[in-house]
Amino acid sequence: MRPLNPTESYPCPVCRSGKIEPLPLMEDTFSCQFCQHLFSADVKQQLITMMDSEIPLSWYWNGKRWSNPQRKGLEFGWEYAIAGLLFISLPTMIVGTGAYLFPPIPGTPLAWLPTAWTILTLITHSVILLWLIIEFYQFPVVMYLRAMMRRDV
Ligand SMILES: [Zn+2]
Repeated sequence: MRPLNPTESYPCPVCRSGKIEPLPLMEDTFSCQFCQHLFSADVKQQLITMMDSEIPLSWYWNGKRWSNPQRKGLEFGWEYAIAGLLFISLPTMIVGTGAYLFPPIPGTPLAWLPTAWTILTLITHSVILLWLIIEFYQFPVVMYLRAMMRRDV
């Protein structure tokens, strides 16, 4: 655990592969040497805000990593991982069990429906969970992918 200090370097919250370093001539300003984004730091609140983004993106430094400022001090623990797994597996299991217990008559026009419904349940719940994780970490997927693509070139 170390507090946010505008003279040290930190992992970049956008590309997650570069480091953000303090800019020499600007106070409380960081830049990432990898994805080139600029951040302004608020040491009192332990926050950084992205300066060159259309959407307001900020991150709270919890001493170890960046997190969503709205969820200060909240750790993404194993109980969340279990809740997430249940969130995906339970509805899928319920729908799947229903399809198994009351199998459609093979060959009827809608015989494929229970299987498709089970798969659809799995996909939608996975997407919702992924979205929650992204929201939790303030993880800008598009910017991350853009930075990743730039690395390969
Ligand atoms: Zn970066």
